[in-house]
Amino acid sequence: MVFDVQKIRADFPILKRTVNGHPLVYLDNAATSQKPQVVIDAIVDYYSNYNSNIHRGVHTLSQEATDAYETARQKLQKHFNIQHAHEVIFTAGTTHGINLVANGFSEILKKGDEIIVSALEHHSNIVPWQMLCERTGAILKVIPMDVDGTLIFSEYEKLLSEKTKLVFVNHVSNALGTINPIEKIIEKAHEKGAAVLIDGAQACSHIKPDLQKLEVDFYVASAHKMCGPTGVGVLYMKESWGKTLPPYQGGGEMIKEVTFAKTTYADMPHKFEAGTPNICGGIAFGVAIDYLNRISFSAIETYEDSLLAYATEQLSAIEGLTIYGTGAAKTGVVSFNIDGIHPYDIGTIIDKLGIAVRTGHHCAQPIMDFYKIPGTVRASFAFYNTFEEIDVLVAAVIKAKQMLT
Ligand code: PMP
Repeated sequence: MVFDVQKIRADFPILKRTVNGHPLVYLDNAATSQKPQVVIDAIVDYYSNYNSNIHRGVHTLSQEATDAYETARQKLQKHFNIQHAHEVIFTAGTTHGINLVANGFSEILKKGDEIIVSALEHHSNIVPWQMLCERTGAILKVIPMDVDGTLIFSEYEKLLSEKTKLVFVNHVSNALGTINPIEKIIEKAHEKGAAVLIDGAQACSHIKPDLQKLEVDFYVASAHKMCGPTGVGVLYMKESWGKTLPPYQGGGEMIKEVTFAKTTYADMPHKFEAGTPNICGGIAFGVAIDYLNRISFSAIETYEDSLLAYATEQLSAIEGLTIYGTGAAKTGVVSFNIDGIHPYDIGTIIDKLGIAVRTGHHCAQPIMDFYKIPGTVRASFAFYNTFEEIDVLVAAVIKAKQMLT
């Protein structure tokens, strides 16, 4: 099948705009993806035609909204190959999902228990666990990384022991693009009886994970990085954990019965979905998933791999330019610096030419500390980017270099 990128681009209204007098070249997809018209239409349709609170009303609008929201849950179930729809928990995003699980483990971990994180994590998958350690007296261990951008697996194996209760690693690093060997990470953790949470925020726009095959305990992702809206995400929680973990927040929706003497909780997923959710966001998330699957993840992966290879080759040819993490299996991200130039200065100059990249630490300060740099310039790709846009990026980086040296 020919990948018709121009046809795909026509689905994204924002890609038609100009920035500073130049056609927009949007290469900040690791921060958030753009939204196709079908997703925008779904949001307008919801608020125009059937806005109503869900799960509560007998009236028609409430039933329509409930059906649409629960259909979206089923779409997520199918997409991630999850056994039961009730193992799909709607969240406000990856950060919320991780905090929900970390909060639950407050009642499980004991002083001296160990939990393992990787050196390649986003702050969202570090800070909630540090807070958990402060609450419980558990100890946080870190899988070190190598200069090539990979995790040192042999060190991970050394960290694992009978004391390990939980391992949490991202599927793909948002700062470098490294694809972590999560199958092996999960297998080794399970051999020691530890649970595993995988942060799929950066992976899920590039890769379609099969959660039953992975046998993972928890998997989190955000809709906004998958062509859906902000403020909504998904937490997959294995059924057995849904019974063990306490609720995160109390409120409406998450109860069976409330009296002043005692309150009983609903079963999952509602146990973990207190309050009125982002109904419209959940519905639009389902529409985004359908959209991505119509293009197909195998087509997306093949096309994006060739974009990444081309960008890596073209940028590497610039003298004094270093790309970080080139030794790893990667997807979607090129993180680089030019000798003697601050990443922020490159980002500012190329913005004047209509190019959106991210500069800074990308919420992954430990990676920057490892390389002893303040940050990087990060160009991150989606399936709607083109080879011509990479040429524009490379020419702009060369121009910025000339201006700054
Ligand atoms: N983890 C990773 C790997 C990410 O890339 C991101 C978003 N950049 C997050 C966590 C946090 O996601 P959110 O801000 O949507 O909660």
